[in-house]
Amino acid sequence: MQKITIAIDGYSSCGKSTLAKALAQRLNYSYVDTGAMYRSVTLYAIRNNIIDKDHNLDEAKLIASLDNIELNFIFDSHHKTSETYLNGENVERFIRTMEVSNNVSKVSSIKQVREKMISLQRLMGKKKGVVMDGRDIGTNVFPKAELKLFMTADTDVRAQRRHDELSSKGQYFTLEEVKHNLLERDYADSHRKENPLTQAEDAIVLDNTDISKEEQLEFVLKLIEDTYLAPEKHKHL
Ligand code: C5P
Repeated sequence: MQKITIAIDGYSSCGKSTLAKALAQRLNYSYVDTGAMYRSVTLYAIRNNIIDKDHNLDEAKLIASLDNIELNFIFDSHHKTSETYLNGENVERFIRTMEVSNNVSKVSSIKQVREKMISLQRLMGKKKGVVMDGRDIGTNVFPKAELKLFMTADTDVRAQRRHDELSSKGQYFTLEEVKHNLLERDYADSHRKENPLTQAEDAIVLDNTDISKEEQLEFVLKLIEDTYLAPEKHKHL
């Protein structure tokens, strides 16, 4: 069966990675979490004092350090998904903290950081059969992706989901703090100069405020089946 590229973009914490992982599993595609890449660069910057305690970022130093940052995704058969490695270390546990979330939009707005991440992302998706989620996948990384989804959900619902996810990992913040971080990131990510978050013209909008993960997955699988994988459509791919 011919493989396609699936680009999933959207606001923070609206379930992009949940859907992307589930799609990758069901279709036997690879999954690339591009947010994890920007988060890993941010973690590197925090650990190497390129970002200080007051959140000041030394942009020149980060750009000069980019060659020292190696990122990989390695499939973990236990968790049944790819995990993020920064210079050989599995950093999954460290990149989803509020400290990283509070600094990542500054890092991801830097042109040279984006250039490096985007070229890695294009390499990883070169052979198709990939589900990639982020902010600029359908608009910039793979503008010719066969399927583009733009995800959104009510802000309070997103904040509650993120709050619950953090709490389940032992990271306790108030709902207000979590909501504030989401809104700040959404604003920064949508208003930056380099590849801002926008909806691609040919993207299908998925608002999952009132639908379950399972319903959403089945909807997208049916869409893929009907549009791209039905036998009579194969010849058009
Ligand atoms: O998806 P996630 O919330 O983990 O992304 C973290 C941050 O990484 C975003 O807030 C954004 O600043 C940045 N990002 C980006 N472009 C992408 C993916 C993520 O700028 N393609």
